[in-house]
Amino acid sequence: MAADRPRPAPRSLATVHGYPRQGAGRELKKAVEGYWSGRVSAGELRRTAAGLRREAWRALADAGVHEVPTGDFSLYDHVLDTTVMVGAIPERHRALVAEDALDGYFAMARGTQQAPPLEMTKWFDTNYHYLVPELGPGTVFTADSAKPVGELREALDAGHAARPVLVGPVTYLLLAKPAPGTAPDFQPLTLLDRLLPVYADVLADLRAAGAAWVQLDEPALVQDQPPAVLNAAARAYRELGALTDRPKLLAAAYFDRLGDALPVLAKAPVDGLALDFTGPAAANLGDLAAAGGLPGKRLIAGVVDGRNVWINDLERSLATLATLLGLAGRVDVAPSCPLLHVPLDAAAERDADPQVARWLAFARQKTDEIVTLARGLNEGGDTIAPQLAANRCARASRAASALTRDPAVRARATAVTPADTRRPQPYAERSAAQRARLGLPLLPTTTIGSFPQTRELRTARADLRAGRIDAAAYDERIAAEIREVLAFQEKAGLDVLVHGEPERDDMVQYFAERLTGYLATRHGWVQSYGTRYVRPPILAGDISRPGPMTVAWTAYAQEHTDRPVKGMLTGPVTMLAWSFVRDDQPLADTARQVALALRDEVADLEAAGTAVIQVDEPALRETLPLRSADRAGYLRWATEAFRLATAGVRADTQIHTHMCYAEFGDIIAAIEDLDADVISLEAARSHMRVAGELALAGYPQEVGPGVYDIHSPRVPDAAEVAALLRKGLEAVPAERLWGNPDCGLKTRGWAEVRASLTHLVEGARQVRAEC
Ligand code: GLN
Ligand code: ZN
Repeated sequence: MAADRPRPAPRSLATVHGYPRQGAGRELKKAVEGYWSGRVSAGELRRTAAGLRREAWRALADAGVHEVPTGDFSLYDHVLDTTVMVGAIPERHRALVAEDALDGYFAMARGTQQAPPLEMTKWFDTNYHYLVPELGPGTVFTADSAKPVGELREALDAGHAARPVLVGPVTYLLLAKPAPGTAPDFQPLTLLDRLLPVYADVLADLRAAGAAWVQLDEPALVQDQPPAVLNAAARAYRELGALTDRPKLLAAAYFDRLGDALPVLAKAPVDGLALDFTGPAAANLGDLAAAGGLPGKRLIAGVVDGRNVWINDLERSLATLATLLGLAGRVDVAPSCPLLHVPLDAAAERDADPQVARWLAFARQKTDEIVTLARGLNEGGDTIAPQLAANRCARASRAASALTRDPAVRARATAVTPADTRRPQPYAERSAAQRARLGLPLLPTTTIGSFPQTRELRTARADLRAGRIDAAAYDERIAAEIREVLAFQEKAGLDVLVHGEPERDDMVQYFAERLTGYLATRHGWVQSYGTRYVRPPILAGDISRPGPMTVAWTAYAQEHTDRPVKGMLTGPVTMLAWSFVRDDQPLADTARQVALALRDEVADLEAAGTAVIQVDEPALRETLPLRSADRAGYLRWATEAFRLATAGVRADTQIHTHMCYAEFGDIIAAIEDLDADVISLEAARSHMRVAGELALAGYPQEVGPGVYDIHSPRVPDAAEVAALLRKGLEAVPAERLWGNPDCGLKTRGWAEVRASLTHLVEGARQVRAEC
């Protein structure tokens, strides 16, 4: 009988590169934060973490995944884990790490009184943040394979076929920055020869612990890389491939196409590749064929989009897989990237419209999709006929739904003309009209929008949600906050006031909740960094605005002061960047719909008497495509969407925009293309460098480089503000320079904000008197 015959291993396996870490009830967040506050012991934290790993592997195996990943789990961040694995602990954290590995680990992540943390930055073009390794010519790497080996053993002991997944050596070095005290032009990649032996040790340890395969993730290779980097990658994989005491090696890359790096990895003496075949990375298919395929090697084919929330087109994926079968020795099926960037389970969204719920695939559903695809590949399409039929039906319902296809929205978007995206008057004329209307002094002062989100405000919101207070009581608390924020700004002497955004939990979610076509999730948590999780809204359908979103509170604020109150909106690119986007139409089309909704809001604000309107685009730069060839197209639609949202105003209505970064040399032309009357930017830490850069580029409009660093509780004094403004004046004439903080004040405390803004106004007055 079949029972005593060994079952042949399936030809194609289903596998994933990584899984959400936090658990269904966000147990990891609770345990880690409990440990920080002393409520949870180290032992309890470790047990919770091990339990979560076990649960994730079991969920994967139960779903039919043949090989589970290990080492993708993290108490905080997998790049920080890699730093520990290679022993690159910064000098300032070393004593703590030696004393207590766990506390030292969290010290690197969060800093201590004496030792600031590692810098945090975005992981490629996702909304996940990693801790930046700090390396220098003196860095000595040493292998510490405790975590990768320990987690592999756990999975093997639990009876799973497991594949350790590590950040690859080239990507690790490319993500690093020069350690403090090192020459700023030091290139961490020059340390490759020192790092490879450490990877060799870890690989040997993993093999000894029972790893048949190890995966090394090299997503940095999907970016444009110079020949030197491609050569380094070739060398790295030649050397690792040549090791004798090693498991089989897979090199993995995702988030985009590999381009020139594809032949490099395909020719390397490794045993397989894991590639992304979704979105722009679909180009990998042709490139792989052109490179001669992977004869005799393993290919893990990422055919299910691992970073978006939509169900897969199973038939199309099967066709892709069928083509790939001819290009490699063996083809396994996977999501395009680790499932870290999607929520855990769409089935938990119990209040979602059932019609919409069947279009959604979070980590669990994506797992089912790859298992289905592998089965179709192994046993023939007929064996998955019911799944294919259900999938076809769900996709058809999505395509035909009134939510995804609103004829009025579509007609309006198609009718947009170039004239709609250009303000009719040249800047000089607008500027004169705005000066006459606003009557602002030289070096006018303002803030970026939000004031401290106090505990009282958060409690009020929670009370409203839980039904402990009614809408009227909530509104009264918001109104009182607005009056207080205004009174403070008048007293401090600011020139253009804000209402303080007390009614907004989050600058994207607030608008998403008020636009038709956007969906919210209840449990759709995704890790942003460490224990911070966000619930990005979902751009599901055609976007329209049932009614004004911000006019009431802005008008309320304007009734309580004679100074201009700035209206405050989130721009179209940011509305896309911090949400899950549609995959059934170009991003440009979605951006245009959002822009049209914002355009109506801008018009309503203007009609209500708002003379200054700020449209924030902090995500403009972070959404830049990874490949430079795709950037011009992106910037074209991104800037056009901003202008479409803002160009409908009168000459004397002043449009502001805001971005939270100081490095933007590569998008200066795009910033000009926004044609905003005033732009505020981060500049306090870089000593107003952006002002100089903008001036150099001949930027004609008004600029507010931040003179108060809001990322720190430090209070600048008036002299410091004045010095920064004087520095700004070296580049920008007084008629076009503003005084403002780097960003919103949401995360700061009132005491610091009061003092800092008072000093900001004083500093501006001092410099004004010198003009
Ligand atoms: N207006 C927003 C605020 O002040 C801008 C935030 C941001 O740029 N990230 O909070
Ligand atoms: Zn900002």
